[in-house]
Amino acid sequence: MSQPLVGMDLHDLREALGPDQPQYRARQVYDALYRRHVPDLVHITTLPAQVRQDLSARHSLGLPEIARRYQSADGTRRYLLRLDDGKTVETVLMPEGERDTICISSQVGCPVDCKFCMTALLGLERSLTAGEIVGQVLVVVRDNHLRQDGGRLNIVIMGQGEPLLNLPNVVKATRILLDPDGFALSPRRITVSTAGIIPKIEELGREPVRPRLAISLNASTEEQRREIMPLTRKYHLADLIAACKAYPLRPWEKLTFEYVLLKGVNDADADARRVAKLLAHLNAKVNLIALNPGPEIPFETPAPERVAAFQQIVRRSLPCFLRKPRGLDIFAACGQLKRVAEPPQIALL
Ligand code: SAH
Repeated sequence: MSQPLVGMDLHDLREALGPDQPQYRARQVYDALYRRHVPDLVHITTLPAQVRQDLSARHSLGLPEIARRYQSADGTRRYLLRLDDGKTVETVLMPEGERDTICISSQVGCPVDCKFCMTALLGLERSLTAGEIVGQVLVVVRDNHLRQDGGRLNIVIMGQGEPLLNLPNVVKATRILLDPDGFALSPRRITVSTAGIIPKIEELGREPVRPRLAISLNASTEEQRREIMPLTRKYHLADLIAACKAYPLRPWEKLTFEYVLLKGVNDADADARRVAKLLAHLNAKVNLIALNPGPEIPFETPAPERVAAFQQIVRRSLPCFLRKPRGLDIFAACGQLKRVAEPPQIALL
């Protein structure tokens, strides 16, 4: 199979072009891939025809193919993208006023067994390559003619998978997305979310180029977290908070904690007070998410008044926002990415 170019950094591209090519050739290809978003190798017209031909003989561009698009009534679009080996993964575009957010996946399926999440039901099929991670962004940007200027575009690595269990590829993809000579996104505009893989949080903190960090907290006590996020048996809540305290934030940065509210499980006033206390000494904000329900998910969504009361309590101690569900009708919202192919009343493009 020909080797994909998308996902290669300058060093990889120099190797792919071979020692006979001048140094600037790699830069030309890099620019075509990540700044000009060419849809095909033949479009890299800055290269001499012969070089282009040689390159195409050994390499493909390697962008994922759009298998399906699902359009939500609220403007959200869910993409089912087909990868080189025929496996499919999901990417979601959420346009909202002045900004566009693309939610990308880091793995096909997910190995973390959170009890409220539909992606967990897939299990892990495999991790994505750096090229498949960057490729999701390139495909969605191109398909929607998205603009990137003025901080319009945000990327969240919150789709299928546990990004910190695929850290090398996530970091490599992030470097390309953040490189001023590459995709040129600001580091404020890309966020990676983890279920709490503690040693990998420490590893990420040592990376000079990295996205913002969000942690899926989802519980206010060790026992409660162990029930709904079994990975807590290995990575204890107290250690998670300690790792967050030690995490080297940049001057402009805060940690984000996501908290999925499950009716009668973790949504009491006492939970809210415990969350505020747990996070009291961190430079953090909280994003509440009322459960997005799904078949086979044994939890219910709390009433809006309960959610509001919870938010009020946390807010006394730290910034606390409510994440609006996006694309519920097409199974595109948080925790719903399970490649649901034919949900009822779904609008296909
Ligand atoms: N595995 C990583 C990246 C996925 S982010 C992580 O866990 O952080 C997906 C977010 O959606 C997580 O914060 C998760 O807690 C949340 N989530 C999962 N299932 C959900 C559901 N059914 N309703 C609302 N949010 C959910």
